[in-house]
Amino acid sequence: MKSCPLCHTEMPARYNYCYQCGEYVGHLETAAPDDDPAAAKRHRLQERFIHYGCLTLILMWTAFGLWFLLHINR
Ligand SMILES: [Zn+2]
Repeated sequence: MKSCPLCHTEMPARYNYCYQCGEYVGHLETAAPDDDPAAAKRHRLQERFIHYGCLTLILMWTAFGLWFLLHINR
């Protein structure tokens, strides 16, 4: 929520213009939830987990493919 500087009407943060007097209020940005450092850290850890998970999967499949190629002609 933010309030209009002219008529002090409360309105949702997504509004760019006051619906009472039409004043531009888009510059009155409320704090974004992404600024939370704990959430950002959790997000980075999650990304790293997915990254290394995919990497491990690819390495396992590569190793299995090489093993298969080396043993298929016996
Ligand atoms: Zn207003």
